[in-house]
Amino acid sequence: MHLKIAVLPGDYIGPEVMAAALPVLEAVLKKSGHTLEHSTHDVGGAGIDNHGKALPDSTLEACRAADAILFGSVGGPKWEKLPPAEQPERASLLPLRKHFTLYANVRPGLLLKNLIDTSPIRPDRIPNGVDMVCIRELTGGLYFGPKSTKEIEGGDIEAIDTMVYRKSEIERITDVAIVTARARRKHITLVDKANVLQTSVLWRKVVADRIKATAPDITLAVMYIDNAAMQLVLKPSQFDVLLTENMFGDILSDEMAVICGSLGMMASASLGANRNRHGLGYGLYEPSGGTAPDIAGQDKANPCAQILSAALMLRHSFGLEAEAKAIELAVEKTIAEGIRTADIAGGGKAVGTKAMGAAILARL
Ligand code: NAD
Repeated sequence: MHLKIAVLPGDYIGPEVMAAALPVLEAVLKKSGHTLEHSTHDVGGAGIDNHGKALPDSTLEACRAADAILFGSVGGPKWEKLPPAEQPERASLLPLRKHFTLYANVRPGLLLKNLIDTSPIRPDRIPNGVDMVCIRELTGGLYFGPKSTKEIEGGDIEAIDTMVYRKSEIERITDVAIVTARARRKHITLVDKANVLQTSVLWRKVVADRIKATAPDITLAVMYIDNAAMQLVLKPSQFDVLLTENMFGDILSDEMAVICGSLGMMASASLGANRNRHGLGYGLYEPSGGTAPDIAGQDKANPCAQILSAALMLRHSFGLEAEAKAIELAVEKTIAEGIRTADIAGGGKAVGTKAMGAAILARL
């Protein structure tokens, strides 16, 4: 198979972790006889600095021509003074999600047994680690609804964000959760705020109807967001597939990440309706964390989330399950041998980004 991907490293730690991920990707494909064609493009702050906008036309064109996007992360203090609409994340990542209709964000939350000591949760509460997946709706809700800020009577200022959801949007993300749950423990927990929000009332009805009509083999539980935030910490093992709207998913998936050891371990896949040249899902694959400006340029970032994002890309956009698994096992083996970056070293001896990447590559 010939894989054509657009590589968008982004800002701060983005290029550092991408530099660790690409050799792993190249090696696993070479070993299995596939060919990789990749080109690297500016995005986010790098796009602003080098092309005058966060999502340069040439970058978007390269993404259109590719089978999948491997993304780093964007943004940081350097561009924080720009008007909100021009800031890296809002002006590159959100338009990319919208442009390619990437409505489903799939974030595996896997706490490896060898990392139980790095979780803030007491080990006796998670004797078997954690294994769940968060399915977050990604192109609707508050982040994309009509917004405004205006001066009102009395010199006061009013800002409005609007949460909008359609039945069709909820149905298509429910279908992603059903497929995900079928490959796992067949249990979906819908997280909402149906006691207060109209959109949540619609979510509850549509999700329940969809599962009843198309997936009677799947069990459904519903939970308010405030309770879910608490339950995640109290008893994460009760969750198999978490299904939720955009903002709740944004928050809960970071909570899930830290329960699973570190943001530096969490990969994500953003999938949509488009197919690539191989007839498989076109997707954008990125670490769940941001650009970590506090540790950028110091060879401290954990490259695992970026490397595991490449594995998700092989699985979802190219159907290369064995190759994806090989990368995941190499990460697991490296960690099991005690080779860890500072975020997962628990105060013990830590290696840098480059050494971590090299260790994973060596164990492929
Ligand atoms: P962050 O995720 O960058 O950092 C939060 C904490 O997690 C920091 O202490 C950081 O050092 C740590 N961390 C994150 N990734 C790590 C890794 N790979 N290895 C080790 N530690 C890691 O979140 P933030 O500080 O809120 O945001 C920083 C910038 O990133 C902001 O400009 C924000 O807008 C941007 N951001 C971008 C994305 C994206 O591109 N998808 C997502 C979130 C935040």
